[in-house]
This record gives sequence, structure tokens and C-alpha cells, in this order.
Amino acid sequence: MTQSPLADEIRKEAEQRRTFAIISHPDAGKTTITEKLLLMGKAIDVAGSVKSRKADRHATSDWMAMEKQRGISITTSVMQFPYRGRMINLLDTPGHEDFSEDTYRTLTAVDSALMVIDGGKGVEARTIALMEVCRLRDTPIVSFINKLDRDIRDPIELLDEIEAVLSIKAAPITWPIGCYKDFKGVYHLAQDRLYLYQAGLGSERSQAQCIDGLNSAEAREYLGDDWATFAEQLELVQGACHLFDQEAFLAGRLTPVFFGTALGNFGVDQVLDCLADAAPAPLPRQTQTREVAPDETAFSGFVFKIQANMDPRHRDRIAFLRICSGRYQKGMKLHHVRLGKEVKIADALTFFSSEREQLDEAFPGDIIGLHNHGSIQIGDSFSEGERLSFTGIPHFAPELFRRVRLKDPLKSKQLRQGLQELAEEGQAQVFFPQRNNDIILGAVGVLQFDVVASRLKEEYRVECAFEAVNLWSARWINCKDAKKLKEFTDKASENLALDGGDHLTYLAPTRVNLALMQERWPDIEFRATREHH
Ligand code: GDP
Repeated sequence: MTQSPLADEIRKEAEQRRTFAIISHPDAGKTTITEKLLLMGKAIDVAGSVKSRKADRHATSDWMAMEKQRGISITTSVMQFPYRGRMINLLDTPGHEDFSEDTYRTLTAVDSALMVIDGGKGVEARTIALMEVCRLRDTPIVSFINKLDRDIRDPIELLDEIEAVLSIKAAPITWPIGCYKDFKGVYHLAQDRLYLYQAGLGSERSQAQCIDGLNSAEAREYLGDDWATFAEQLELVQGACHLFDQEAFLAGRLTPVFFGTALGNFGVDQVLDCLADAAPAPLPRQTQTREVAPDETAFSGFVFKIQANMDPRHRDRIAFLRICSGRYQKGMKLHHVRLGKEVKIADALTFFSSEREQLDEAFPGDIIGLHNHGSIQIGDSFSEGERLSFTGIPHFAPELFRRVRLKDPLKSKQLRQGLQELAEEGQAQVFFPQRNNDIILGAVGVLQFDVVASRLKEEYRVECAFEAVNLWSARWINCKDAKKLKEFTDKASENLALDGGDHLTYLAPTRVNLALMQERWPDIEFRATREHH
């Protein structure tokens, strides 16, 4: 309980932060809603500029061109903008399942999430998978049911589906009045107020017109013949649905649900208001030694993502660090905990208004970008004073493997460097078997191999081919007993490898083989996920 002016400042700044990500199935409307959020945060002036910025970026390199071709978003970006006295940090996540690792790690850096559901489709596969990840940390979820300007499924059925499939209580905050051509707006249950939908205002920062009181003459007139049916449906909804409960929301047990259309920029402001008002400010984070509170004065944070510079002519990579406590100041010295080294952070980047800018100060909940010339890995912690190592930033065991074959044997140095750097970014995982000079690439999704090949060619001028290899999965090895470990590594050397971070890994040819090894070596831990330390 420090009372210093610095502590007060940090507490005040931290309380204003709202750091969240959008989770959704591809095509549900994440990009569109991101754009409207930026519009509302005045980070952009005209809707449409997010897409055009994307188009510029695509032109800059081959792998971006590939992203465009396949219509998926591979990169994760961070956008910061002020909104109603809050500072919003929006972390974008790739929607395609082949990049799920990246998404999972981004979700470790947020305090809440916005779930976007296509009203015509309901809860889809990718949303289910992402919700499972959110549940690991009980991340509070705000839900937005999108595309009300189209034909949607019965809203009651949609809420039931959220509850049944995602095992979370759903509390409607607004309720839709019709849909598609008859979409008239939404009714705010607690406010007893109608928000009127007007088509054609999708690219404007406009506020919806309102009518107070469903029983008012004005509301009756606006709804016309539909009034009685709507009032009846509402009664049913109010009787059957959960009421919003802040505590249950913060515990990840209940999600407030909003309806609207991202394309029509209707209802998105209500979602942002909810995130600003009800979603948590930066939460405490666990380290190996203790929990760190955001208002501690000493700086601490962890790296959850590494990304190549958007411009391939500059080879530097950016490490995205989530600040967990204290204040970042330009030129400050921090401990790089894993390396046990003190480093000076002279030129961190922020992502204000979706443009990279240099910044002088940042606070808990903010994301800063550190220039990385190879010394920073995903999961690395940085701290001031006490050495704190944050936990919970996972690497997942790959399920797809390829042997890398170099086309020009003289380029093996470049290949190794390229693979090591791309592995650090989390594009794929690289393994160096102990028994030969093979290089094995591991991935969770098959598209990752294409990205690696394309970037090796573009950025490292190395051409390679991938060959099938007979592997089923990889497990990271851990054993406290040095003697047992030695015994194991001698006996199992045929299948052992080092990964890109020099961690001992067992490459299992089959599921049966792995099961047998686990049985035979009870003192050895075969881990399916690995945390960097
Ligand atoms: P993402 O894959 O989740 O990022 O989805 P996008 O934002 O790219 O949206 C997918 C498609 O749905 C695009 O063609 C959007 O224009 C469209 N879309 C998004 N929101 C709405 C909406 O509210 N109504 C309608 N009709 N289409 C929408």
C-alpha cells in the first residue's frame, strides 16, 4: 500500500486501461467491428481505412500477398485509442485456425475479450476453441451478435446455444427488434429505451436516436403492428434470461449480450461502452514466485508475440510486451530475466491510432513494442528491481512435421538463422535432432509451412523444400533428477532433439511409442505445452 505520487499515478493510469481482444469465427465480422471501434475511438476518421491500410501492407511482401490471396489475416496487431476517459488497447488476433498458437498467446495478454457471433450462424467451431482458451484464465467475455441487417436465427435460440455450447450464462443487455428488412433497432432492457436503427450510416460516427419507455406512445407508434408481439416476446425473455451480474461477468461465468450490425455501425458503441464501464482494468498476473499487482511501482511485463517488421527491407523484429506493473519510461533500464542481463530500452514503440509511434511513457495494460535483434523470445519477462518471471505463456506441441531440404547447400547458415528467427516469432517450431543433421519443422496448422517457405525465400533468400517425415508429436522433456535425465537421454537419443530455444524435446514417431516411453520412464515429464523461461 504505497502512497507515493508515482504509485498514485500508476494506479490512476492502470484503472483507465482496458485491454481486450476480439474472438470470433472467420467471417463473423471481426475486421468490420475493429474498424468501427477505431472509428469510435477517433483512431480513424473514415470507415474503410482499415481495409485500405491492409491493402498497402499486402503490397509490401510476398507472404502478405499470400495472406490476401487466401483472404485470411495472419498478422496480429495492437491498436490503442482513447475512449470516454479510458485508454483502450485492442489486440487483434488472426482468425484462421492455422495460426491458433499466436491467438492463444495473445489471449494471455488481455484482461477481457469481445466475442463476435454471426447471428445467422450462431456459435461456430473457432469460437468454441477460443472460448476454451479464455476459460483457462476465466477471462470476462462480452458478446456481440452481429449481422442483424440480415436474416438471423431466433435470438432466444442463439442465447440458448451460447449457454449450452460455451457453458457460460448469457445475459441480454439489449434485445433486437426484428431483423433483416424489418430490423428496427434494439431495446435496452435495463434502461427501458429503444435505440433506433437507421440504414446507411455504417461509416459514420453517429449516435442512434432513442425512444424512452417501451410503453410510451412514441414507441407504440414506432413499432406499429409489431408492438404487441415484441412486448410479449420481451416478457418471455425477461422471465427466462439471466440478469447481468458484474461479479459473475468478472469471474468469466456470465456474458453480457448485445445485438447489432457491425457493417451498419449499430450496437457497436454499446459494446464499447460495456467494455469501458464493466470490463476489468489490468488484472494481477502470476509469476514463478508471486502474483504481481498492476499498481506496483516497479515495472514488469512479458513478451507474448514476436513479429517481423511489416517492411521486409528492415530485418528488425518487434517483440510485443504486455506491461503488468509499473511505468515504462523511455531510456529506462530493465532486467531481461531469462538472460540475467540488464538492457536499456531506448526506443519502444506504441501502437497509438493504429500507426507505430515512439512513446515516452506507458502503463499497466499497455502493449509496447521492443526492437528485437535476436535476444528476445516469446514468454520472456522484463522487470525492474526484483526478477520476476511470468508464467502461463504456452507453446503447443506441433502435430504436423516436415523435414527441411535446402535447395542450395551453401546456404545452410542462412537457413538455420532464418528458421531460428521464424521459430522465435512463433511462425512454426524448429527441431534439431541429436542423431543427424536434419532440420525438422513442426506446426499446428499446415498453412504455417507455406508461410515459412515463402518468408525464407523473400527475407533470407533461401529456397527450400519440405519432405514428409514420420513423426506423430513432440513432447518437451523435464526431469528434476539429473541422473535419471542422463539415463533417459542416453537411451532415447535416437528420438531426441533440441528445439529453437535449445529445449530438450522428444520426437515421437507414433502415439503408441509415446505411450510406451511414458510408461517406461515414469520420472520423466513429457510435456505437451512448454512455457519459456
Ligand atoms: P472477419 O473474418 O471476422 O474479420 O469478418 P469481416 O469483418 O471481414 O466480415 C466478413 C464479411 O461479413 C464481410 O463481407 C463483411 O462486410 C460482412 N459483414 C460484417 N458485418 C456485417 C453486418 O453487420 N452485416 C452484414 N450484412 N454483413 C456484415
